[in-house]
Amino acid sequence: MESWQRELQQSIRTPEELRTLFSWLTEGDIDAQQLFPVSITPHTIKLVKNADPSNPLVRMCLPSAQECVVSDHEREDPLCEKNHTPVPGLLHRYSDRVLLLVTSACAQHCRFCFRRCLKSTMTQGTDIPSAIKYLHAHPEVKEVILSGGDPLMLTDDLLESWCQTLCEVPTIERLRIHTRIPVVLPSRITPSFLEQCHRMHTKLPLTIVTHFNHPKELAQENRLILERLQGTGITLKNQSVLLRGVNDDATTLITLFQSLSTLGVENYYLHQLDPACGTRHFYVPIEKGKELMTQIRSQYPSLQLPRYVADIPSLGGKKDLEQEEVVEESPGVYRLSSFAHLLR
Ligand code: SF4
Repeated sequence: MESWQRELQQSIRTPEELRTLFSWLTEGDIDAQQLFPVSITPHTIKLVKNADPSNPLVRMCLPSAQECVVSDHEREDPLCEKNHTPVPGLLHRYSDRVLLLVTSACAQHCRFCFRRCLKSTMTQGTDIPSAIKYLHAHPEVKEVILSGGDPLMLTDDLLESWCQTLCEVPTIERLRIHTRIPVVLPSRITPSFLEQCHRMHTKLPLTIVTHFNHPKELAQENRLILERLQGTGITLKNQSVLLRGVNDDATTLITLFQSLSTLGVENYYLHQLDPACGTRHFYVPIEKGKELMTQIRSQYPSLQLPRYVADIPSLGGKKDLEQEEVVEESPGVYRLSSFAHLLR
């Protein structure tokens, strides 16, 4: 067993551990772990030790009684992913790329996760032969994104075998990995994984898209592994989610975007929260998100900013919110340009 796997075994998962470490949690808060289990890595525990409930990192990983309230517009499958799954574990929503859900496991369970209701029903991975057959039959697909769960929960050997298999599909030109592990389990980025990144990148251009939401997540260990990943020659991007009480103020977002840029990580997307069940307490109105982006642009015109987007299945996917006229008509119901749509 590798040291990161041993570290993972020390994660906080039980109500007893939560009560001991966070005495201010109510029984209502702890009950929310029945809806979506808790898993908090030792790395995060180190960062949130002695923190109070308003700490942004605490809000992202500790259960809250507010998760037990489900709003009318919230859905178990907010992006209607089941409608775009031609073979188990393969999502095909955009013509030129597919997502492979290679595992349902994550190092840490994020309370705002848009797949929080789907994870328990997701298969333990993709149906590999069917997925490869599908890719051969769809030459328009140029990019494969490994997602999940978190693909870096797989061992190096399994990742290598995925990469090898995908390299053998002649029409695939690019590989991408979506992962939050550089945030919550930096020890997973081992020297052998770094070598593997370099090897993969020589076969197919590789992009790793990380998921930092707050500058406090960029602790020394996290910065170090971003520098090391950078050294392998791969492309590094970051996507964040706009979350109430976490990063919904201009100063926090500016510090986050500046820090990532300095580390050579491209600010890729700032996502509007997807309406998964029990996440309303994280919701930030689109108008506020747009105001924040305008404020940041006016203060730092040369800062490389992410695209502020919402994923709206009824409109075919991601919409650039700074380019669209968005009017909030009632919670979860928006008018986009000339249309009225449920944001789901
Ligand atoms: S790492 Fe990603 S998939 Fe896993 S719980 Fe967090 S947001 Fe969800």
